[in-house]
Amino acid sequence: MISDYNQFRSFFASQDVPEKAFDVSRDEETTNLHAVSMESITALSQWTENSYDRKNRKLQIIPGYIESMTPNAVADSDGSNFYIGINNALFVIIHEFSMFCFAQQNFFPNIGDANNEVSPEPLDGRAPGLWLLNHTTKGERVSDLHSKHLIPRCSERYVASIYLAQIMLRYVWLHELAHCCNGHIGYIRDHKIASRVHELETGLSAAQLSNNKVIQNLEQMQLLEYDADSVAFAGSVRIQNNGLENVEGIRNLGKDQAVDLTIFGAFAMAWLFEEIQAYLNVRKNVSHPAPYLRLHNLVRTANKYLESELADIRDRSQSAYEKFDSIKGVIPKIYSGQKIAADLESNDFQLQFLKIDQEMTALRDKLQIYRFDPKPIET
Ligand SMILES: [Zn+2]
Repeated sequence: MISDYNQFRSFFASQDVPEKAFDVSRDEETTNLHAVSMESITALSQWTENSYDRKNRKLQIIPGYIESMTPNAVADSDGSNFYIGINNALFVIIHEFSMFCFAQQNFFPNIGDANNEVSPEPLDGRAPGLWLLNHTTKGERVSDLHSKHLIPRCSERYVASIYLAQIMLRYVWLHELAHCCNGHIGYIRDHKIASRVHELETGLSAAQLSNNKVIQNLEQMQLLEYDADSVAFAGSVRIQNNGLENVEGIRNLGKDQAVDLTIFGAFAMAWLFEEIQAYLNVRKNVSHPAPYLRLHNLVRTANKYLESELADIRDRSQSAYEKFDSIKGVIPKIYSGQKIAADLESNDFQLQFLKIDQEMTALRDKLQIYRFDPKPIET
């Protein structure tokens, strides 16, 4: 694993815009949680250990963190290995957001002593996490006021917030893993659409965006995002439902709670991307679909593909998106459960997703030759 990390480090250091790998260790208090999350995804990605593409190339995945104050995540390849990376800033945002949620009285009130929480408001209207990033990039110190504001008072809820953050990070890892396994990287390279997948793109000019070929390519990129989201979401839910959780503390929460946190965590990532886009001033919804549509894609994925495994998934997913309402009092711009439910039934959304489903089916055919699949054991 250490040699893999050296490989990760030298790959990102050798890019046109070099990036620095972020060293993590179980023994360091400041990076222990990074290490837990990385060890967990490394073990889970053994699922793909015997996967090969049509050219008989074995899938090799190397996860790692990137030292960067810009929130982002990436999937890339050097031709033999695939690299999935999460920027440190995204790790911070996810943790702050998760702690903030558990500091709200009505958020998962069945966990710990919720009545003791003070339901704080964000410090300057920014999503928790983005406030911290903005604050520290300006070189300002984080005071006790900050902690008081954001951290759950009840220790059981504090611990649950750390597990929710781990679950959200896993969703991001699995999303990047899907970009590799499902042949997205091979496809976008062969078709000269892009050389890697970055979750937040800022580099497209107005001229590029008026070019038809570029627009077509971006539509394909959007479909790949829906595909990676669906795979990551289904994978995250299956880990809980099939007893594959490898983080002991999450396993100890029990299946019911772990499934509910998993569903909420994936939905919450959609909203965080909305906030991060606004923070980075990313040209909206270009290479990636609008986060709100991504959330709808997840709810639809739950209803369409997961019901046979988890009979009450519809109710659970409804109760997960309604959890946004328990935060709405202090972040009014966060999604509304009622609106999500209404939009799910609306003709407009149904038609939009019918079109997306058709385009996705066609794209999946084209991805076949790039994807990695488990090889049957030869007898
Ligand atoms: Zn992606």
